Amino acid sequence: MLLFQNMDLFSQEPDLFSLPYAEVKVLAEKCTKCPLAKGRTKVVFGSGSVPCSLMLIGEAPGAEEDLQGEPFVGRAGQLLTKILESINIKRPDDIYIANTVKCRPPENRAPLASEQEACRPYLEAQIRLVRPKIILLAGAPAVKAVLKKDEPMTSIRGKWFKLPGTDIDVFPIFHPAYLLRNPSKEKGSPKWITWQDMLEVKHALEFHRQVDKLSVQ
Ligand code: SF4
Repeated sequence: MLLFQNMDLFSQEPDLFSLPYAEVKVLAEKCTKCPLAKGRTKVVFGSGSVPCSLMLIGEAPGAEEDLQGEPFVGRAGQLLTKILESINIKRPDDIYIANTVKCRPPENRAPLASEQEACRPYLEAQIRLVRPKIILLAGAPAVKAVLKKDEPMTSIRGKWFKLPGTDIDVFPIFHPAYLLRNPSKEKGSPKWITWQDMLEVKHALEFHRQVDKLSVQ
């Protein structure tokens, strides 16, 4: 994967590339590589099925996630669960969920690029181990960290990209916290747009299922 091209070959850090999931998780739970380690209650590594066809990457843990050590369990997480259920995706079986950084930034600010870069080897290891067909990027900080694109979500959401150097489809969507701040369901509203986006994800997942079926016949 070209995604790994920036890894420092001479680093003294353990080579996450060759480790199984449980060992990567243990390393993340002891990690102090960036200043976010100081303010955390729990490391929020990720949750869901491994491997899994569908993965979602958000920006960072919030207050509730920091307390529970699980991603997307606060109000935004509950809305995300409902959005996923609307296209028959059940947590934790049908999706793997993680963030660009595993520790909560102070006052829920967006993670800094340097923090995302420090945490990147864990995210890369998760993608390698989960082996998703589709990755949803929830919100601009996730898009920036993964696709290196700094465009407004209103113009980049709902478009398909490839994870650099891979065949994995990447699809930016609005972050559920943004939807909580914009509750209208009227045509053209962020919630309405997200419903259209999730229908597109549903069709793409079905396409991948059909391709998998044909390839084992
Ligand atoms: S955010 Fe990531 S890199 Fe920073 S301390 Fe937590 S696990 Fe380590």
